[in-house]
This record gives sequence, C-alpha cells and structure tokens, in this order.
Amino acid sequence: PEEQLESDPTKKTLVILGTGWGAVSLLKKLDTENYNVVVISPRNYFLFTPLLPSCTTGLIEHRSIMEPIRNILRHKKATVKFYEAEATKIDYEKRVVHISDDSEIKGDMAHNEVPFDMLVVGVGAENATFGIPGVREHSCFLKEVGDAQKIRTRIMDCVETAMFKDQTPDEVKRLLHMVVVGGGPTGVEFAGELQDFFNDDLKKWIPEIKDNFHVTLVEALPNVLPMFSKQLIDYTESTFKEEEITIRAKTMVKNVTDKYIEAEVTNPDGSKALEKIPYGLLVWATGNAVRGVVRDLMNQLPAQKTSRRGLAVNEYLVVNGTENVWAVGDCAVTNYAPTAQVAGQEGAFLARLFNTMAKTDTIEKELHKLSSAQAAAKTDDERNAVFDEIRELQKQLRRTKQIGPFQYSHQGSLAYIGKERAVADISWLSGNIASGGTMTYLFWRSAYLSMCFSSRNRVLVAVDWIKARLFGRDVSRE
Ligand code: FAD
Ligand code: NAD
Repeated sequence: PEEQLESDPTKKTLVILGTGWGAVSLLKKLDTENYNVVVISPRNYFLFTPLLPSCTTGLIEHRSIMEPIRNILRHKKATVKFYEAEATKIDYEKRVVHISDDSEIKGDMAHNEVPFDMLVVGVGAENATFGIPGVREHSCFLKEVGDAQKIRTRIMDCVETAMFKDQTPDEVKRLLHMVVVGGGPTGVEFAGELQDFFNDDLKKWIPEIKDNFHVTLVEALPNVLPMFSKQLIDYTESTFKEEEITIRAKTMVKNVTDKYIEAEVTNPDGSKALEKIPYGLLVWATGNAVRGVVRDLMNQLPAQKTSRRGLAVNEYLVVNGTENVWAVGDCAVTNYAPTAQVAGQEGAFLARLFNTMAKTDTIEKELHKLSSAQAAAKTDDERNAVFDEIRELQKQLRRTKQIGPFQYSHQGSLAYIGKERAVADISWLSGNIASGGTMTYLFWRSAYLSMCFSSRNRVLVAVDWIKARLFGRDVSRE
C-alpha cells in the first residue's frame, strides 16, 4: 500500500551507502522495522568478489556471482527504499547525502538529496594508481563485473589480433604477453586463472599461440602475497615456476604507455635499471585508494585530519568526529586488512548494534511510561506491581546495553594460485594451519561455494564449473 512506502515520522532514518560486503551483511541481519531504511548504491546487486578472477576467463559467468539487491530487500520485514545512484557528497553539517543517477537512462530527476539521522558509509575503495601516468588509460582493473568482462574480451582480442594475417613475430610476442602488476592476492589469483585458461583451453583451440603466450606478474616488493606465511609464499612461487608464469619481483612500474610498461628493476647487486616491458594485456592490481566522496567527508571533520587511508573509526565503528555516522569495510581504517571477511563481520556487528539500540530505545520509553504510572498509582498493591515491572525492564535494559566493541575473528586467508592448487593460512582452534596443494584447492572450492550469497548462486557457480570441465571455456569474444 501507498502509505507503507512513506517514511514513518516516529522512526529514525538510517541511510546505508553501498551494496557490497559491508552494507549487505548489515542489511541481512538488520531488523528493518525499527528504522526508515534507505539504501543508496550505483550497483543494484551484491557481488561475490572472491570468484571474480574466475569471470575473466569465462570459467564462471559473472551473473552467477551477482545477487540482485531487490531480492535481498524483498525478504525484509519492513519496506526498505533503494535508490540506484552514487553518493556524490555527504554533507555532515546538514545531515544530507547528495545523490546522482549516473546510469545511462535518466529521468527528469537525476540529482537529489537524502536526509539522514543515522548514516552508514560502506562505499568500498577505488583502485590505487599512485598517480602513475598511463595506468587509467591503458590498463584493466579487477574490482567490478565490468572490469572482468573487459579483461575477458581483451584476452581474446589479443589472441585473435596476434593471429592476424602476416603479423610480425615481435608484434605476436607483444600481443600474447599478458602482464599483471601487483603481487597481492588479486594479481596472483588472476595470473593463475589466466594460465589455467591457456593450459586447459586456449592452447588446444589455437595451438599457434603455444610458443608466445606468456603471463608475467610484476611486483615491487621482494616477494608476492606478503600476507601469507613464508612457506606458502615459497609454495606459490614454485607453483608459478612450474606453470611457467614469470614473477618479476623488485620491479616497480613507473610509467605505462599503450604498448609497454616502464619499470624500475632492482638488480641482485642493489643497482637499479629502467626497463621497458611490452605487453598485449595489462591488468593493474596494486590495491586500494580512498574514494572521492569519502575523502570529502574526511575533509569536513577535523578529527580525520591525520587519517590517510580512509575514515578513522572508534571501536564501535563510529566515524571519529561524528556521533551518527558509521563506516564499514574498505572505506574504514581499522587494525585489519581490507577484506570481505572483515567487511562482512563489521556489517553484522552494526546490525546487532542497531537492533540493540532500537530495543534499548523501546525499553527506555516503556520505563518512562511506567514511572509515570507508578507516580499515579493509588494503592500500595498497584505501586508494587508497577515496581516489579520496572525492575524486570531495568534488568532487560542492562542486558541489551551490554554489547561490547567490534571484535574481528580471523577465519584464515585463502587464495587460488592456478593448476588446481590453492594456499590457505587457516586459524584452527588456537593454532594456525598453513597448507597448499590440491586438497587445499578442493577446500577452497567448497569453502567459496558455501560462502556464496544464495543457493541460487551456489547452483549457478557449480554448473559453470561443470560446464567448463565438460566443454571448455567459451572463447568467443563478446
Ligand atoms: P565493496 O564490496 O567494494 O562494496 C562497495 C559498494 O559501494 C558497492 O556496492 C559499490 O557499488 C558502492 N559504491 C561505490 N561508490 C559509491 C558511492 N559514491 N555511493 C554509494 N555507493 C557506492 N576478500 C576476502 O576476504 N577474500 C577474498 O577471497 C577476496 N577476494 C577478492 C577478489 C577480488 C578480485 C577483489 C577485487 C577483492 C577481493 N577481496 C577478498 C576483498 C573484498 O572484496 C573487499 O575487501 C570487500 O569487497 C570490501 O567490502 P566493502 O563493502 O567495503 O566494499
Ligand atoms: P594488495 O594491496 O594486497 O597488493 C598490491 C601489491 O601491488 C602489493 O604487493 C604492492 O607491493 C604492489 N605494487 C604497488 N605498486 C606497485 C607498482 N608500481 N609496481 C609493482 N607493484 C606494485 O592488493 P590486492 O591484491 O588488490 O588486494 C586488496 C585487498 O583485497 C587486500 O586486503 C587483500 O587481502 C584482499 N583480497 C583478498 C583475496 C583473498 O583472500 N583470496 C583476494 C583478493 C583480494
């Protein structure tokens, strides 16, 4: 009914920015009937990022790891409003968010303001380029669905262009050189998936590329996967060697052109040299940078002056310098790495916090009513009865108020490294298990399958895996 869609003036308006790991895990557990909930995001779906690298080669179709936000919201008890728009500015003083419809189709109203009583910022991060010239123009990132689709198309474009009539040998070599910059988990997983694609399918379908197709991973530090244990770093590096993926460690990219990258290489004797590395496909995976809308909010708050990597928050995830703004996930600075695991737990924590705050509010209102009733009571019996009720409610209030600060529980780190192998640093009881290999890969597959958002996603991903096993990946260029 019409009136259900209107906001309830007796409730506070809770605005949530984003539909990623942080925001969606908050929404999943939030009792939406306590607030007027408004969700704003340029993306009307949740994306299961851990399987995104598999979409770049068509092993998994991107829609298998997307879950429409409308499907998530329709299962909530009270109506939640969703606006597909980007938050362009958060005006903290005025308590409003400016929003803009950046999609292709726009109505008469493409910009607007949304007022809030409470705000959760879960907008994630953007791709770091460190201002290196040419990165934005010439490379592909790997963060969103569109990025994976672009890479998938480009891989095949490079291959087909290399096969063009009378292409020179040098040009064939360049076109088939796939360069990945950044040896964090994103770069490593993508390099592994790409080499798999070549070994499982491309090599068989287009044997002419066999001698020239080559994947290189470029990393500025001395080794890849710095967050994993030494043993697993060594295992990853030796697996890459077997797979014939070249790791160029201690190689820092300084400049990017349309056909080559320029990198500063540190030689074993400590001397430095500048090297040009030609490429056909360039994938840039050097981590996170702060989004403009977040930077702007930081500039409005003196308490954020010393923060560099994102919104500094307290142990309840309240943005320092505010009392009604919270931050989750990659846009918040905590003691933890910017991972889905952390963002998910932060979102769930906020849901518990907001549910408790609403409960506390209700009990406090009830207590207020009862103390007036107690004052108005005529007989001792009446007074005693109200007194008992008050005591009971006070007990409940103490219990609900006992919510402690956010505590992260690390379940471990897991990464796919190609050749049906994965590495895992898993916390088990009080110890750590470091494992790598095919069993870990099967564990990786089942863990990710079980973590998918819905049964629908799980079925689609499993079917994609089976399809690729039976028929190979689809190499047609869209
Ligand atoms: P996101 O999930 O990025 O969501 C941000 C949301 O905000 C999106 O919905 C976006 O559309 C929206 N948004 C953006 N700008 C605006 C705006 N101006 N206004 C409103 N909304 C906005 N982590 C793991 O723990 N395990 C893994 O295996 C793993 N694999 C990964 C693989 C890849 C390829 C990548 C890129 C990341 C991976 N991560 C993994 C990291 C993980 O995805 C992030 O840490 C996580 O997504 C952070 O969650 P978030 O909610 O902060 O941001
Ligand atoms: P990252 O920050 O982990 O790694 C980026 C790498 O790029 C660093 O090792 C850095 O030294 C290197 N680098 C930076 N500038 C460079 C340059 N100019 N030239 C060469 N190398 C350069 O980034 P990521 O891999 O995108 O990961 C981002 C976050 O997402 C991390 O917190 C990560 O843990 C998480 N993530 C986790 C998984 C997983 O658990 N399987 C997968 C993907 C991402």
